[in-house]
Amino acid sequence: MSDSCIFCKIVRGEIPSKTVHEDDDFFVFHDIRPIAPVHFLVIPKRHVESLAHFEASDSDLIGRMLLLGARLAPAQGLSGGFRTMINTGKGGGQEVFHVHAHIFGGGDALPKT
Ligand code: AMP
Ligand code: ZN
Repeated sequence: MSDSCIFCKIVRGEIPSKTVHEDDDFFVFHDIRPIAPVHFLVIPKRHVESLAHFEASDSDLIGRMLLLGARLAPAQGLSGGFRTMINTGKGGGQEVFHVHAHIFGGGDALPKT
């Protein structure tokens, strides 16, 4: 946990969020500035700065983070599919330095990357 991290504050309930799911290891909530009709974030409760800061021993946690996004997507209206994005570091466009997987889609087809 980090005192100043906004996502840690969301996990602690100090900042409100539109919660999708919570369990022992993960917190899932809607993005406040969605870039698609459905857009939510999957974060580990443990404060890890970015994907690049995970250790090899975190492989299971990383895998479960992605799987959880896929499992929750249909109930959020993404049964037709979704995009998963993890921005890493300033060069990767990361703005909040608590690792998170964006899951988004819905509406018109997403642009090709
Ligand atoms: P990134 O650029 O990958 O670090 O993405 C950070 C995301 O967090 C952005 O899409 C923001 O819209 C989102 N975000 C920032 N603050 C909040 C918040 N309080 N509640 C929900 N989403 C947030
Ligand atoms: Zn944090």
